[in-house]
Amino acid sequence: MQTSDLVALDRKHLIHPVASFREHEQAGVTILQSGRGAYLSDHQGKELLDAFSGLWCVNTGYGQESIVRVAAEQMSRLPYATGYFHFGSEPAILLAEKLVELSPASLTHVYFTLGGSDAVDAAIRYITHYYNSLGQPQKKQFISLERGYHGSSSVGAGLTALPNFHFNFDLPLPTQNYIASPYPYRSPVGHDDAAIIAGSVAALRAKVAELGADNVAAFFCEPIQGSGGVIVPPFGWLKAMQKTCNELGILFVVDEVITGFGRTGPLFACLAEDVQPDLMTMAKGLTAGYAPMGAVMMSDRIYNTIADGAAAHVVVGHGQTYSGHPVSAAIGLEVLRLYHEGGLLANGVAQEPNFAGGLRDLLSHPLVGDARSRGLLGALELVADKDSKQRFAPELKLHERIATAAYEQGLIFRAFGDNILGFAPALCYSSDDFALMFSRLKQILDTVL
Ligand code: PLP
Repeated sequence: MQTSDLVALDRKHLIHPVASFREHEQAGVTILQSGRGAYLSDHQGKELLDAFSGLWCVNTGYGQESIVRVAAEQMSRLPYATGYFHFGSEPAILLAEKLVELSPASLTHVYFTLGGSDAVDAAIRYITHYYNSLGQPQKKQFISLERGYHGSSSVGAGLTALPNFHFNFDLPLPTQNYIASPYPYRSPVGHDDAAIIAGSVAALRAKVAELGADNVAAFFCEPIQGSGGVIVPPFGWLKAMQKTCNELGILFVVDEVITGFGRTGPLFACLAEDVQPDLMTMAKGLTAGYAPMGAVMMSDRIYNTIADGAAAHVVVGHGQTYSGHPVSAAIGLEVLRLYHEGGLLANGVAQEPNFAGGLRDLLSHPLVGDARSRGLLGALELVADKDSKQRFAPELKLHERIATAAYEQGLIFRAFGDNILGFAPALCYSSDDFALMFSRLKQILDTVL
């Protein structure tokens, strides 16, 4: 079909995620056609270097033939197997076993979802079930971070603290509460790691005291806040938050939807700090975007409390038709093989200096106020004035100009509204890919104003 016809049909019928409907109609869609390694081609054959792994998910890069092969084999052998009524499938069982082996030791049970939002939603529902089973039904308050993102399910969107996800949706619920995010660049205590960690611990303690510890169910956080602007807390922050939750008697839930699967170096960010969460959510890199899948993992304590919490014949009423889908699970197993035996995790770690160094070099650029990263997850924060850290006036619409310039230069990344540029290159990037990424990025920054 002609591109112009597709663009017209898109305008007419297709609702895009997290889009201004009218602005999207005006701008029109860019149709992506094919991908290989770190590169995409659009419908006109224009080559684009993807520095965002799709939506922080295609961690393996595009066109991995072995993933295509296992998906086709599984589809032809058995495209679907329900997980209901004591049925199951080999790939789902093996993937659950593998995740338990590779994740923090506290996590021993896996429930598969279709993505990250329903993993967060499942976590909230299981936590509610857990406390009701324990005979503590008053524990209904949840705490998360300002600037946090935990998806857009009806309840999970309330843990998300980004205004667009609440506006006109009547969120958050009265049981959803926030504390300040550990944001070194804009923290009142500056880049003093110990003070930032102490500030978050004190804020969590104060919020729990305000709500009453007996009423608080859990604290949710991302190890590095992604959609909130790639906010990288100091090393040791995650561990301190876990310790505080344990002391306060509330559950500690880590949302590794972005940070999982090699994005920050190890398979999960929790592993770098020996963090043992009570629950953990994941998606994206689990199947590297080749098929939808997410998961929530939980500890023995939570699993057993739920298991024993009701009369034996009462089912735990949470489930979806496609939980543990065998094609997605087969893909997940192959993706995990590529991360480990295929050398992708090791390549990501080896390439980190190219990524971090390239971002750091741009600190000398007149527009760049901050450069931050961990592993292959990073950001540049653009400011109108470096001394005062003043942001550019919204009327300038700098992020839109940057998105346009980036496309012209053939580079894909995320330009957030507050002039933070987010980057999440695939773990297959080579040194040449990074050299090209930074030369295109410099060109964009040099010409955008
Ligand atoms: N949690 C985090 C930390 C995320 O970054 C996202 C998506 O970006 C989600 C949850 C929601 O995942 P999904 O978009 O797969 O529903």
